[in-house]
Amino acid sequence: MINIVLFGPPGAGKGTQSDKLIQKYGFIHISTGDLFRWHTKNDTPLGKRVKEIMNSGALVPDDITIAMLKEELDKNPKAKGFLFDGFPRTVPQAEALDKFLKENGTAIHHVIALDVTEGELRSRIAKRRTTESRADDEEEKLNKRITEYFGKTIHVLPFYKNQGRLNTVNGIGAVEDIFKNICGVIDTVS
Ligand code: AMP
Repeated sequence: MINIVLFGPPGAGKGTQSDKLIQKYGFIHISTGDLFRWHTKNDTPLGKRVKEIMNSGALVPDDITIAMLKEELDKNPKAKGFLFDGFPRTVPQAEALDKFLKENGTAIHHVIALDVTEGELRSRIAKRRTTESRADDEEEKLNKRITEYFGKTIHVLPFYKNQGRLNTVNGIGAVEDIFKNICGVIDTVS
């Protein structure tokens, strides 16, 4: 079983690369952003709790996010491996993930951080806005999401670096080249 965390700021290409990785390696994809969007779209009790927060571009509190993640892990006891996308975004989330995986006799094997400059990701998001209408992608919310990333989420990187599990991949360039570099990390360190 191989478990991967795909890490990067909003607009770094995590969704695109995740789709390709799932196809190649058969991971179970756990995107907390997709899960929250499903809950808000279906107006579930959880969706009602997080809607305002998501619409503001802020991070959902750790207790809510960690509980949802745990539920998702428990739904897939026979997974060949998980690809975590958009989780963890805080050190407490990273610690909780380690704990849950350890309880199941496994761990995070590789953390792959897509390295994209702030200028590049702002232009990508502007482009994406012309084809997708995601409520949280309006300018003000986008600023908040980027602030949350550089203010909170980035602190997860030293956590994994200290454990020797961090691999940085240049996230600027052709999708296929980036994918090849990610696969290189997975294949050589596995
Ligand atoms: P994403 O599509 O991954 O950018 O997530 C969309 C939104 O969902 C974020 O802006 C947060 O409001 C919320 N969210 C997703 N994942 C997390 C997480 N791991 N921790 C806290 N909030 C999250």
